[in-house]
Amino acid sequence: MAFMAAKRSEPYQGSNLLMEAVPSMKRCRARLRGIVQGVGFRPYVFQLAEAHRLNGWVRNDTDGVELEVAGTGVNIEGFLRDLPARTPPLARVVELEVHELPFEPMESFHILPSRGDRPRRALISPDTCVCEDCLRELRDPDDRRYRYPFINCTNCGPRYTIVRDVPYDRHRTTMASFSMCPACRKEYEDPLDRRFHAQPNACWDCGPQAWLEDAGGKVLAQGDEALREVPRLLARGAVVAVKGLGGFHLAADATREEVVSRLRRRKIREEKPFAVMFAGLEDVRDYCKVNEQEEGLLRSASRPIVLLERRPVHAGPPLAPGLAPRNRFLGAFLPYTPLHVLLMDGIRCRALVMTSGNQSDEPIVADNEEARERLKHIADHFLFHDRDIHMRCDDSVACVIRSVPRLLRRARGYAPAPVFLASPAEAVLGTGAGLKNTVCLTRDREAFVSQHIGDLENIETLRSFERTVQHLRKILEIRPRLVAHDLHPDYLSTQWASRQDRLPTLAVQHHHAHIASVVAERGLAGPVLGLALDGAGYGTDGTFWGGEILRVDGERMDRLGHLRPVPLPGGDGAVREPWRMALSYLWTLAPGRTESLYGDFLERWPAEKVSVLLQMLEKGINCPRTSSCGRLFDGVAALAGIRTRITHEGQAAMEWEQALAPAEGAYEGDVRQEEGEWIMDPLPIVNELVEDIRKGTLTGVLSARFHRGLERLLVRATKRAGEQTGLRRVALSGGVLQNRCLSRSLEAALEAAGFQVHTHREIPPNDACISLGQAHVGSLYLQRMARENP
Ligand SMILES: [Zn+2]
Ligand SMILES: [Zn+2]
Repeated sequence: MAFMAAKRSEPYQGSNLLMEAVPSMKRCRARLRGIVQGVGFRPYVFQLAEAHRLNGWVRNDTDGVELEVAGTGVNIEGFLRDLPARTPPLARVVELEVHELPFEPMESFHILPSRGDRPRRALISPDTCVCEDCLRELRDPDDRRYRYPFINCTNCGPRYTIVRDVPYDRHRTTMASFSMCPACRKEYEDPLDRRFHAQPNACWDCGPQAWLEDAGGKVLAQGDEALREVPRLLARGAVVAVKGLGGFHLAADATREEVVSRLRRRKIREEKPFAVMFAGLEDVRDYCKVNEQEEGLLRSASRPIVLLERRPVHAGPPLAPGLAPRNRFLGAFLPYTPLHVLLMDGIRCRALVMTSGNQSDEPIVADNEEARERLKHIADHFLFHDRDIHMRCDDSVACVIRSVPRLLRRARGYAPAPVFLASPAEAVLGTGAGLKNTVCLTRDREAFVSQHIGDLENIETLRSFERTVQHLRKILEIRPRLVAHDLHPDYLSTQWASRQDRLPTLAVQHHHAHIASVVAERGLAGPVLGLALDGAGYGTDGTFWGGEILRVDGERMDRLGHLRPVPLPGGDGAVREPWRMALSYLWTLAPGRTESLYGDFLERWPAEKVSVLLQMLEKGINCPRTSSCGRLFDGVAALAGIRTRITHEGQAAMEWEQALAPAEGAYEGDVRQEEGEWIMDPLPIVNELVEDIRKGTLTGVLSARFHRGLERLLVRATKRAGEQTGLRRVALSGGVLQNRCLSRSLEAALEAAGFQVHTHREIPPNDACISLGQAHVGSLYLQRMARENP
């Protein structure tokens, strides 16, 4: 019997004395799909089989991993129980199929060569933070990789950002130019080694190296000396461009205001918060409150930036006030590459600004030459290395609401892991929206949402968009049969779609896509109510939507209700000047009498512009109508004196939320039916707000009453829509849901009203989710076409 082979000489130890003396022998074949290649899966199976004293084999094939085990029934059971439960950290098993076969003895356990010429469906893992084992070696003076900034193994390191093509093999990554030394090669070829087939495997002798340059291109230090020099430069107040995993960061001492403000000036970034990298979790705790889920996120292998509430009183040197002006939250993260760890170990202040290496809204810089050119006016020094970044990838951003982690930007550490779908999808490309663009490719039960690409408003970002589409198509080997895009004719993503003349296209309304993305992500079937609370998206009636109650049933979307539309004076310009929305609401309250009734508000705004806009409002010139919830936030924030103009998207709304203080009361909106639609009218809310402002009510109280009033308005209207349709499931989506107060209370109130509430978990609620919704609707369209024209 194979199981009695010399290697496994221990006797079978059945705990039950009544068991047969000779255990029954079995043989099973299993196949696993998901992220199971390039993550140490075969050595894992090998070791697990050994531990359960089983013989057999394991191999990679085009779909994933296939294996066979033979041994006692009890041992096989134990093996199959552990198999999906104890997988390597980067693996993700989506499907496990097991068949029993007639018993045949097998000798020992083998890793067989891969089957199939191309692993077409092997999934590439996202980039992952340095693991504990590598960290130990990094800090061990006796280890051959002591202080080697590119240490990695099968359980950690770069993946997506270095892959040029599939199958995932070293010569198809940016590690191709480094040939392994004998010591590294030995690890790479040993199935029992932690670096078995670790494609980026490297060491001081054979791998990538780092060096330090000044802004003039002069090399100042190399190797370890460069890494020791950077903390000294930072301590002297320098801004250093540091090449990381998915692009360059601009690093600066987070405790020095003059340094932070210099960085702001050079980067042309007025007030948008900077993220801070802390040396360790305890340092984060010194400045921020961290609950269990937030700690889990901070320490997760994806290492996102986590938005945390700041402590009013804290230990340690104060952080620079200019890091996140007027913000009770701070984006904090922990070092995730060995290079970061070495840097942070040398930093006395324990906190560095680590912001994307770019100027204002351009894509993150990823290439050395590009960095020298584009960052030369921002950085004083450059810490380069020679491992190329093939796919740029920003840091991801997450937060915790109602104990559930939520993503606000999904990029490094998450992409290109797929969203797994409940039913098979057609091959469709979704081109996303205009802001916070992502693209999405679907195939079978997988939806691949790209990393955050950015705002498609300049040629650099459009190029990055095109590169990402091309790259994903290549590494996923998906040939889309349809391109799904937004309804907005002016979006660059829409125009790009219309130029793909070999492929049919489908326009999907913006908020339909929002709700469809929740449906796809959460695996819902059948009709749902959708509450889309958003900036603005092009509606089917040519107005700008964004406060919508929809009934979404796959491809079909019905608008059941919405916020009362108001004029958007001057169109898009209103977005940058929230006081225009304030004026719009005041005008809507009293057309023709705005000046006489609200002069006390109007006098706070630029007089000339006010009179021009009032005329435009009266005559209805350049005043498209909008039911956007985001614009409502802008308007009330401006009325309350929070902001008249903004420097980055959503700023007024965010500061309005931040101003909130515990307080009694709520403003009361109105819900009524007009021409078969539920109209959520916030004008009574605005009216009460105006009265409160005139009484000198504190801003925090105004904000609390507004938030509660809006929540109640939304819940009341959703209840009516629920009664009308008989639907009890509500999907929530849209950029306004980044507002934690509203998200938290709205979800709870809808649940209290008896609704099943579905929210995004794996992708952001903002426009980053649009591409998935488009692809989902596109796929349903193709499937219907196939049914109707067989
Ligand atoms: Zn490792
Ligand atoms: Zn080596």
